[in-house]
Amino acid sequence: MTYSNSLLRADVAALPAYTPGARPENSPGPKGGGFIHSVMPESGPVKLSSNENPYLPLPTVLQAIEQASHEINRYPDLNAALLLAELAAKYGVSEDQIVCGNGSVAVLAHLLAAVVSPGDEVIYPWRSFEAYPICVSVAHGVSVKVPITDHGAHDLAAIAAAITPRTKVVIVCSPNNPTGTAINRDEFVAFMDNLRPGIMVILDEAYAEFVRDPNAVDGIPLLSKYPNLVTLRTMSKAYGLAGLRIGFAIGDPTLIAGVRAVATPFGVNALAQAAAVAALQPAAERVASARVAAIVAERTRVVDGLRRQGWQVPDAQGNFVWLPLGHEAKAFAEAAKTEGMLVRPFDDDGVNGGVRITISEGAANNNFLAFAARHLPS
Ligand SMILES: *Cc1c(COP(=O)(O)O)cnc(C)c1O
Repeated sequence: MTYSNSLLRADVAALPAYTPGARPENSPGPKGGGFIHSVMPESGPVKLSSNENPYLPLPTVLQAIEQASHEINRYPDLNAALLLAELAAKYGVSEDQIVCGNGSVAVLAHLLAAVVSPGDEVIYPWRSFEAYPICVSVAHGVSVKVPITDHGAHDLAAIAAAITPRTKVVIVCSPNNPTGTAINRDEFVAFMDNLRPGIMVILDEAYAEFVRDPNAVDGIPLLSKYPNLVTLRTMSKAYGLAGLRIGFAIGDPTLIAGVRAVATPFGVNALAQAAAVAALQPAAERVASARVAAIVAERTRVVDGLRRQGWQVPDAQGNFVWLPLGHEAKAFAEAAKTEGMLVRPFDDDGVNGGVRITISEGAANNNFLAFAARHLPS
């Protein structure tokens, strides 16, 4: 151990590093694309490992970034006022119910910082989004991981049973990353109704736009009934702005003000604000929805294809599918890599191991289906 390591908080020194999805060694440079079919030109391995949107940025978004770039000697708007106004109108909430951040993961970290006192318990399903254990530890919380079901779904009854007098926050993820299943609306409402007061519930809906199950929960209409509920959304997935880092929380104005109080000032940069506003204009929204619809259609095709091959695939409501491969996850991902496909294995702790594959466009999905057919576990 070096001297500087000993300066770190012991719990921080022990944190796992966030593992990003593998990326091709030489990614092709960005080129704008106005059409639903504009995807990254394929040279080198195809990246199906980070749940990114495969389509190229819209020309109007690129123009907004170019324009905003002429003023980067100035600080951005502190509260991203123009973007807040767009989002408030889109979701039918007031502006003091929304806070934007440098990706929804930053907003999650700030929510926890605003609410969790040292030693408070934060319950979340596991396996789920790998940022949760890191964010909880950094906020001085104690992680309580409740296993998901054999079908990759949240076990809300088990989560309710895990609540103790020290519980301060429950995080749930719908659709769940990496397993893809969405939470049922009625089950979620029953869960909220039976919760004792004094617990904040964070509903992470990073993939909300891809959900097609009519019985899946949607956090927004529930916010007026539950002031302790906060929904997390992002522009990284459906809107294809992952590289700009922009996400937001919607909830009770008091909780949202708490996030603003602890957040890094000017956390959403000027280019991100301009791009997000451009992405929310009606014409751009129409292209984004058409792209999401195309990904959803491909998702159905891939899930059906995999099931026909004999794979057990949980219900997929995000832009990805999950293959429960257990300890064979890493070997499967390595084999895919040798055939030019980067997929995301999870088998670090021996619990619910598997491989997450991001849905891309037709040819890439076909290549993956052909690969999967040849690698069905016996
Ligand atoms: C991708 C993702 C996010 C979004 O992260 P950003 O920081 O907004 O890019 C949040 N939650 C889950 C579960 C995700 O998969």
